[in-house]
Amino acid sequence: MKRTRFAVILAAAALILGACGDAGEDDKDPVDTEVDSNAAAQFEDGTRMKEIAESGKVKIGVKYDQPGLGFKAAGDDAPTGFDVEMAKIVAAKLGIKAGDIQWVETISDNREPFLEKGTVDFVFASYSITDDRRKVVGQAGPYFLTGQQLLVKKGSGIKSVEDIKGKDVCSVTGSTSLANAEAKGAKVRGFETYSQCRDQVLDGAIDSMTTDGSILLGYAALNPDELEVVGEPFSEERIGMGYAKDKPELCQFLTDTVQEAMDSGDWAKAFEATLGKSGAETPEPPAMDPCA
Ligand code: GLU
Repeated sequence: MKRTRFAVILAAAALILGACGDAGEDDKDPVDTEVDSNAAAQFEDGTRMKEIAESGKVKIGVKYDQPGLGFKAAGDDAPTGFDVEMAKIVAAKLGIKAGDIQWVETISDNREPFLEKGTVDFVFASYSITDDRRKVVGQAGPYFLTGQQLLVKKGSGIKSVEDIKGKDVCSVTGSTSLANAEAKGAKVRGFETYSQCRDQVLDGAIDSMTTDGSILLGYAALNPDELEVVGEPFSEERIGMGYAKDKPELCQFLTDTVQEAMDSGDWAKAFEATLGKSGAETPEPPAMDPCA
């Protein structure tokens, strides 16, 4: 487990050096999964999969400001990143081409409400599986593992999680990261997005930003002279796929689809083209939870 997470961190670090924020730019469809042209026929009547396949429409929530995971710069047609590639694999299985996916920008705090209200069909947005979230939404996976770390200004004196006690630390409302930092004794501030939090660190108004290492490394990459990621991971984040709790049949569908991508090598291809763009070692895919 530890090695896997470390490999992800190394890969993200290398992405930074190699791609500097334009993750996926030159590789829009790295996996290029075959779209099932007869998808609707594969699913039982009355299932949400059948409905989506028949309608040919799917709305997927992803982040727009997390390089390597979910990123869309102003003027880009579509987002890129590892989360985005996983979403495209799922859409292809429903007979929907990448170009026909309706992408919806999702922030940490609106992932559950977006799924509950049907604003999106799926969430692929650095979305940790937790017991609390599973009370209100469905979460399949995990398809990726990471861990919480710290982003600081170079020379800040903060070197590990022990050093954030009593310090001003920001993260994002609705994330697992905020509560974890509070539990470590930090004075926490929650913002809507990680980019807002990062700006506070750059301005010197806040001592550190904290969240998944895979996200922080993307930000460090954008300001390599000023920012650095420090300390060992101090949580385990099991990144999963969100779906509406009243459509439980989606769990097995999502799990089987991503398992197939893990087995076929498409998962690794997606990793290599996004977080692992530098050619850093691709981790073993994690084992996914059984569906109830
Ligand atoms: N993976 C953590 C979470 O789902 C932190 C990253 C995020 O906010 O998206 O809360």
